[in-house]
Amino acid sequence: LALISDRINALEAPQTIEMAKKARALAAQGVDVISLSFGEPDFQTPQYIKDAAKQAIDEGFTFYTPVPGIPELRQAICDKLKRDNNLDYKPENIVVGTGAKQALANAVLALVNPGDEVIIFSPFWVSYEEMVKLAEGVTIRLEGTLDNDYKATAAQLEAAITPRTKLVMYSSPCNPTGAVWSREELGAIAEVLARHPQVLVVADEIYEYINFVGEHASLAQFAAVKDQVVTVNGFSKGYAMTGWRIGYLAARPEIAAACEKLQSQITSATCSITQRAGLAALQGGRSSADEMVAAYRRRRDLVLGLVKDIPGFKTPTPDGAFYIFPDVSAYFGKTTADGATIGTANDLAMYLLNDAHVAAVDGAAFGAPQCLRFSTATADEKLAEAFRRVKESLARLR
Ligand code: PLP
Repeated sequence: LALISDRINALEAPQTIEMAKKARALAAQGVDVISLSFGEPDFQTPQYIKDAAKQAIDEGFTFYTPVPGIPELRQAICDKLKRDNNLDYKPENIVVGTGAKQALANAVLALVNPGDEVIIFSPFWVSYEEMVKLAEGVTIRLEGTLDNDYKATAAQLEAAITPRTKLVMYSSPCNPTGAVWSREELGAIAEVLARHPQVLVVADEIYEYINFVGEHASLAQFAAVKDQVVTVNGFSKGYAMTGWRIGYLAARPEIAAACEKLQSQITSATCSITQRAGLAALQGGRSSADEMVAAYRRRRDLVLGLVKDIPGFKTPTPDGAFYIFPDVSAYFGKTTADGATIGTANDLAMYLLNDAHVAAVDGAAFGAPQCLRFSTATADEKLAEAFRRVKESLARLR
């Protein structure tokens, strides 16, 4: 018998984490590496949130909690969904877990049977396809194009739906492209979905607050499809709480109950102290996020200005999140000073790591093998230095 199961052997390790490992290894040798590989805010969690966690510890709030989260937190999430998104949910619709990541995995595993088709708007976040693989579903990629800012359309969705389609997955604002689907675009998608009531949707809104165009639209706002939608959100990006491990989903009660059942057998509730921190975060509103967004916007503009000067990079303007996702295929076929040929975005990422000491992630991990993803969640000076080095290294290719 094989030591490791086929299920796990078939899984890819996330490229984002792999690249971060390589960058750390190089840095450990004393190289001045600028890591733009990881999708992590460089801000501290706001103090009032940390204080709530300290208070929870001091009060002895250290026991198991109900699996889908403490009642106050589930209620606060309902209040947030009403306040920010005009969505009506009750606590029974909400399941809190260890990050948006667990909420996504809960939904996929609770809904997808072997052989079911899952349509993923592409480029997509690295873990979606692997979660579908775990559920033994079949991924259908719906390719966005550069001239449409990589946004899959309602017409594409209509054409891709078959009698085997179970689920659609997307993120808006999108990691990796920064695309934000407008209310009109989601409305058109909702019209298609309303004609196919057996098709469910996981709408990943983890970057909701990191939005430079202002309006965030939620698919669940379209009443005809609300019951088909599982809305996923969390605290990692908007409140700079990546390490706390807390996120949630909102769905109709049967789906929420199925997710709770799965989570109860695998992890139980997320950390009690983290839940208190999450409660404080929501009670504090979104003003701390708004301060961070101002910095993310400034950095986006800075980086867009810098990449404009890099020949061959074709970069749509990100409307949200904290990445740029240039098409770098103009460099495929070029040769390094050592005589190596750049055949793929991964070759280019490795060249930039070793020559410019800048870590970016191969777009293939996101379904776009012609692209590289650079995170812009880093200090302005570091970004300026990183793109100066990238430009110089690329200019040395022949
Ligand atoms: N969804 C997207 C699109 C993400 O980029 C991430 C984190 O990178 C997550 C979900 C997971 O977030 P969390 O830290 O809440 O698990």
